[in-house]
Amino acid sequence: MRNQLLRLLPSVDEVLRCDQMNEALASYPRSVVVDAIREALAAERMAILSEDTLVAGEGGKPACLERVVLKTIAAATRSVRPNLRRVINATGVVLHTNLGRAPLAEQARHAVSDVVANYSNLELDLETGRRGSRYAPLEKLLTTLTGAEAALVVNNNAAAVLLALSTMARGQEVIVSRGQLVEIGGSFRIPEVMAQSGARLIEVGATNKTYPDDYRRAISQDTALLLHVHTSNYRIVGFTRETTVGELVELGREFKLPVVSDLGSGFLIDLSRYGLPWEPTVQATVGAGTDIVTFSGDKLLGGAQAGIIIGKRVYIDKMKKNPLTRAIRIDKMTVAALEATLRLYLDEEQALGGIPTLKMLTVPLEQLRQKASQLAVFLREVAGSRARVELEEGLSAVGGGAMPTAALPTAVVVVQPGKSSAGELQEALRRGEPAVMGRVQEDKLLLDVRTIADGEFQLLAGAFAKALQ
Ligand SMILES: *Cc1c(COP(=O)(O)O)cnc(C)c1O
Repeated sequence: MRNQLLRLLPSVDEVLRCDQMNEALASYPRSVVVDAIREALAAERMAILSEDTLVAGEGGKPACLERVVLKTIAAATRSVRPNLRRVINATGVVLHTNLGRAPLAEQARHAVSDVVANYSNLELDLETGRRGSRYAPLEKLLTTLTGAEAALVVNNNAAAVLLALSTMARGQEVIVSRGQLVEIGGSFRIPEVMAQSGARLIEVGATNKTYPDDYRRAISQDTALLLHVHTSNYRIVGFTRETTVGELVELGREFKLPVVSDLGSGFLIDLSRYGLPWEPTVQATVGAGTDIVTFSGDKLLGGAQAGIIIGKRVYIDKMKKNPLTRAIRIDKMTVAALEATLRLYLDEEQALGGIPTLKMLTVPLEQLRQKASQLAVFLREVAGSRARVELEEGLSAVGGGAMPTAALPTAVVVVQPGKSSAGELQEALRRGEPAVMGRVQEDKLLLDVRTIADGEFQLLAGAFAKALQ
């Protein structure tokens, strides 16, 4: 029986000759369609071998032809679809590293699209007609916004730390507290970045307590700088004592050593007014007298992936001349996105209203409740009797290795499908078009509206309808 069924499988040519294939052949390259047919036939063969019985052929036609055609079209559509594509973030995690961290402000998106579709003055000073620096527009904005003397921007903050250490401490010693030997994520750790820079790490203090005297005792003629790493993605609580940036600056002055602060997330507006934990702003860290401060462009700042380095001109000038800078330089898309984002920060209200990350972090709970009830209306209409859709209160996270203890009260739409499990619905949504990422808790699917844009409700409802089938 199985052999008979296998013999009934159509050939690639037979499938190609089907009328239903004309549209696929007109839309996709022939090679894509042929690969898709092979894939569909292989799936069919597997199904037969695993004893999935087939209906016998009618009128001499193999019964599976129809199915192979449908599978071929689905496979061809999948294979031409871009791999990197939009996802609706319903997790409530504002800076989700797996989901691309910060979405850009509208002004930043426009700036990128204008610059990539045309030529630009990336390295040309239009006033003088001479060669210009790609960093100039960013440096101007960053020094204005932070009060630092000079600035440089590289590919990401890991690269920023690498460049700072390599320029200022190669072959020398860098003193860091044992409480600040951070793993950034993806197994990149401060001690490894340090080793790569050619600087020697001198650990001082204990995990929970490090005093200024611990640094003082470790200072030698080989010391190049004192490093402070903001423990952005974890907290040490309880019996603790951290040597503050201010205390390090005092020590640095006493021994004529520069102080470098890796702020990690780094942000320009104090968000504690909006119920978020207090953290030192970039301006405060510069104001404390640090020599160099580094932070990410796509964490709380809400811009493009970048590592921002600001501080004393003598060090920044040296970094600009380090050959490593060329290897980790930013491209024009980053310059455009970052310049537009930083411009918004010139007016705090514009920043809070226009930068999606800040908007999502500061949106009032009442607004989230309204948003959730609107989404619930959409989803109930789609679900009918196939799922229960309810409203609940929940908690969102900042994410992206920032403010790890913050739990922001939010409103969530809770879905309980009738026929499938919440996990199955979650998977169907993840594999759908567009993909939707939600959370499962106690066999319910939670959709946190904090990270869903208003304009995405219709799209989400469409994806939800398909997932419920
Ligand atoms: C996130 C982080 C980094 C790395 O920043 P990227 O921009 O992701 O490279 C470095 N240091 C600290 C403390 C961080 O939190």
